[in-house]
Amino acid sequence: MTTADFTALAELLPAERVITAAERLESLSRDFYWYSPVLKRDLSDKLAEVVVQPTTRDEVVSLVRWAHQRRIPLTLRGAGTGNYGQCIPTHRGMVMDLAALDTIHSISSDGIVTCDPAARLGAIERVARQSGWELRCYPSTYVKASVAGFCAGGSGGIGSIEWGALRENGTVHSLTVLTLEAEPREVRLSGPDIFQVLHAWGTNGIIIEVELRLAPKTDWGQLAVAFDDFSGAFDFTEAIARNDSFRKRLTTVFEWPIPGSFVPLLKWLPSGKAVTFFEVADDQLQRLTDAARAAGGDPCFVAPFSEPRRGAQLSDYTWNHTTLWALKQDPSLTYLQCGFSPTEARSQFRALKARYGSDFLLHIEFVRSGGIITPGAIPVVRYTDDERLQGMIEFCASIGVSVANPHVNFLEASGRWRPDDAKRKAKELYDPRGLLNPGKMRDFTPQASDNPGTPLTQKDCLPAAGPQTVSA
Ligand SMILES: Cc1cc2nc3c(=O)[nH]c(=O)nc-3n(C[C@H](O)[C@H](O)[C@H](O)COP(=O)(O)OP(=O)(O)OC[C@H]3O[C@@H](n4cnc5c(N)ncnc54)[C@H](O)[C@@H]3O)c2cc1C
Repeated sequence: MTTADFTALAELLPAERVITAAERLESLSRDFYWYSPVLKRDLSDKLAEVVVQPTTRDEVVSLVRWAHQRRIPLTLRGAGTGNYGQCIPTHRGMVMDLAALDTIHSISSDGIVTCDPAARLGAIERVARQSGWELRCYPSTYVKASVAGFCAGGSGGIGSIEWGALRENGTVHSLTVLTLEAEPREVRLSGPDIFQVLHAWGTNGIIIEVELRLAPKTDWGQLAVAFDDFSGAFDFTEAIARNDSFRKRLTTVFEWPIPGSFVPLLKWLPSGKAVTFFEVADDQLQRLTDAARAAGGDPCFVAPFSEPRRGAQLSDYTWNHTTLWALKQDPSLTYLQCGFSPTEARSQFRALKARYGSDFLLHIEFVRSGGIITPGAIPVVRYTDDERLQGMIEFCASIGVSVANPHVNFLEASGRWRPDDAKRKAKELYDPRGLLNPGKMRDFTPQASDNPGTPLTQKDCLPAAGPQTVSA
């Protein structure tokens, strides 16, 4: 960026919201990319030249005009809790930190919440519960994570055992995006059109408003059950996951020693045991506890799920928080995001354990994927070098385990690229110059002009049958 660029920028925002100090540039250019030793090595030196902090939609529009006019790369930031370097500005330029645009506007009588892009999921959950609703699914980072960051970068989480991934069942009711053009347009996408920008890492439009469908509120209870071995824990959890008479939000299984890294829970979790974590309807907790005992399990932690939080919350140790706890104990560990077969998972586990032993530790998150209860997984794996990590991914594929690779920093290889190519077509329309998060969508050639191509129709973006990988 030139001095003239900075001078023009100074006219758009007060100085305290135009950040150039090295330390703050560093923290606002980063996310949890360091989960991956590969991304840690490749992205550590990538920094924005400036971070801007708009507080109104009008300011966003004028900053977008400025970026377009001066051909400045623009990377969007919600809360920066992504773990794939999604919001790291690999081509420098400007990071737009949207954190201040966090209003929750309304909840309709049929349970649709309308919010600004950086409304925190934790705040939405709190407000929704006050009016008899709750989020259908949310990431384990929900306290901090923004709703647009979840839509652009996340995939599902707590609640996905009932409602599927974020992309399923109409959970995202609409996304309104601002285009990156000389004169930015607002485009409201609903129905299958949301797939143009959902999970596109902010490469093809600036999400300025989100509508999510909520679920009726349930009072939840938490239960941890220890089993002598992983197969006992898996069998029991799978049976509960498939039992529709239980209302549930969380069905997680860990092989030992993963639970050994959950330091605040160790007073409850017996050493050396596989453990399952459940969140089920509070009035079903006793029935689940009895069933766990009958299956040979030891119900070692039972508590209501309280929000705001009081005491231990099991979901803080699930999804990609599991990886965080494991990494704290042993920095040579990292993770994969896998989909095991709903019918062949046990033989796939045996094949992986035979080949990699304790270098491939099983962490299962059951999800409803396309209506089928599926053992998604975020296994904790040992990293030695890139070649061995790649070998693990290839071995998974060879035995029918799908992998959404979390060690790459571009969309096409990350496991969520859609066969209908809707995201690339949308980029041609909404960011023809290729200024949004450049480098993250590789199969795109910047256009010489803003002249948008043919508008997308719904048949361009029919919901694809999603891969059964879990990404977090
Ligand atoms: C410990 C841990 C646990 C996690 N668990 C889960 C989990 O259970 N499930 C899950 O899905 N994810 C999980 N994640 C990943 C991440 O926390 C979530 O996806 C979260 O919702 C991201 O929200 P954010 O506001 O932090 O997004 P950011 O990290 O700020 O951004 C994510 C992506 O969205 C883009 N973006 C942000 N705002 C906009 C906007 N307004 N318009 C367009 N693009 C935008 C960014 O450019 C970036 O590409 C986890 C991460 C960690 C570190």
